[in-house]
Amino acid sequence: MLKTKTALVTGSTSGIGLAVARALAREGANVVLNGLGDAAEIETARAAIETEFGVEALYDPADMTKPEQIAAMVAAAEKRFGAVDILVNNAGVQHVAPVDEFPDAAWDRVIAINLSAVFHATKAALPGMKRKGWGRVVNTGSAHALVASPYKSAYVAAKHGVAGFTKSLALEVAQAGITANTICPGYVWTPLVEAQIPDTMKARGLTEEQVKKDVLLAAQPTKQFVTVEQVAAFVTFLCSDAAANITGASLPIDGGWTAA
Ligand code: NAD
Repeated sequence: MLKTKTALVTGSTSGIGLAVARALAREGANVVLNGLGDAAEIETARAAIETEFGVEALYDPADMTKPEQIAAMVAAAEKRFGAVDILVNNAGVQHVAPVDEFPDAAWDRVIAINLSAVFHATKAALPGMKRKGWGRVVNTGSAHALVASPYKSAYVAAKHGVAGFTKSLALEVAQAGITANTICPGYVWTPLVEAQIPDTMKARGLTEEQVKKDVLLAAQPTKQFVTVEQVAAFVTFLCSDAAANITGASLPIDGGWTAA
């Protein structure tokens, strides 16, 4: 379905992003991986995509807090593949603390990676999409792009910001063959969720099991974590021609969380 397309997925060395990159490659897209992590593990993931799906996979280590590195990554992808047809802005970090104790540096970091990087990557990739008259921007928001939880003020602000940015973008490019959407996953079992358990235990004085059942899945009526494969399948659909009229939307995949 996506042969001849190139997909750049930020934050794709792990979790949702890696699953999305693999799903787009399965459909025939060349992919650019990005993110932090162990060099050998990243190379294994990159090489596996090429072997399993017969596409080209590049890795770019651009730091999403650095606008000039983001622009250089998009330029390198365009140089190698001719265009970035599909941009999945997915890199994200979390910090859990009450507002009056929230470290300034943590606020700045969450906003830079979760929100500003979405702008910088989109700004860089958009001219190429406009030239081709086809493009897909899929931004990984969160249920926290639609509703809030306590102790996650920077994350909730950034994700609501992503939803707003995406709507504005969608209106600007509505007649250019480009769609822009925010996907809003509930709790997906990934390293990001696993990593916030200790802080949540501390902030709320709970055990690990209580955090999983009473905090994380408390909001998710299905009482199941969303899987990375389910998110990847959703993103793949949004990149298809069948989804050409889905744009400017904030789309939950959250086990019913935001219905409550
Ligand atoms: P993850 O920690 O597994 O992946 C995050 C990715 O972002 C990694 O590849 C990491 O290296 C990358 N990253 C972090 N800082 C970076 C930086 N400065 N520069 C470049 N890359 C950087 O987490 P995940 O759960 O797969 O999260 C992916 C996205 O999904 C995030 O935007 C997150 O907010 C969102 N999300 C996750 C869940 C969930 O429950 N896991 C729910 C809703 C939304």
